[in-house]
Amino acid sequence: MTQKELNEMAILKAKADKAQRDAEKAEVKAEKAEKAEVKAEKAEKAEVKVDIKKYPFDVKLGENKTIHFKPWTGKTKKKFRKVFEKLEDINDLDFDDVVRVLIRDNVSDYDVYLSDSEQQYLTALLRKESIADEFEFDSECEYCQSLQHIKTSVTESVEYTMNQFPKKLNNTEFIDIKSQSLLKDIEQDIINSQDYDGITQEKDIEFALHINNNKSPLETLDWIDDLPLKDISVVYDNLKSVSSEMTMKVQKHCTECGKESNFIAQEIPGLFESLLQ
Ligand SMILES: [Zn+2]
Repeated sequence: MTQKELNEMAILKAKADKAQRDAEKAEVKAEKAEKAEVKAEKAEKAEVKVDIKKYPFDVKLGENKTIHFKPWTGKTKKKFRKVFEKLEDINDLDFDDVVRVLIRDNVSDYDVYLSDSEQQYLTALLRKESIADEFEFDSECEYCQSLQHIKTSVTESVEYTMNQFPKKLNNTEFIDIKSQSLLKDIEQDIINSQDYDGITQEKDIEFALHINNNKSPLETLDWIDDLPLKDISVVYDNLKSVSSEMTMKVQKHCTECGKESNFIAQEIPGLFESLLQ
């Protein structure tokens, strides 16, 4: 063998060795990736695993949103009374406190974002499972003003339409907000930012976060500000059309004048009172 041939052989061997080392490395890498995948799968499963003994009820609020909840207890009532005790006026009520005690403390995912309608519907279901399906209240007849006593139930009177996020309408894509704490963080960031106008409300920020346009929340708020008023109402109406809606509706038959009318509300009449007794 010539020196040249020996050199070529050495090069070939080195190449073969390197190829083998690379193959071994790739194998280790693939193994690691597989392990990571299994781990991620496990984490995902653990995340959706809910203690059904602790949260025996569940409800589908949207296409990708199932909420597990537990009924109110004596403790709920005590906490709820405490929220009201410190108030001098009912108008001082911080609704976040009510939501925390009546809803957040009783669902398996404390951080899940819930829209107003989702909160209203969940409250009606919590009432049904914790107190009773049936409820009664007095309502004035809109024709003769006589007081009518109405007996109904959550099952009979509450209607709920589910949201359809994500959905694209008129070039605007709407998405669901997943995390309540993330919403609050963004809100705080906007309030702390130099560009904050001091007028933007929580509801505006929530509205902006439902719009998926690859802009930051602050940029989206600016984008909304620059839209003609009629376009703002189109975007807002589109968002409403894909959002959930809860309505409590009872048909009233007046015993005095015989006329029919509808009683429509967003919450069960007298719910707070029954929890404060
Ligand atoms: Zn009447």
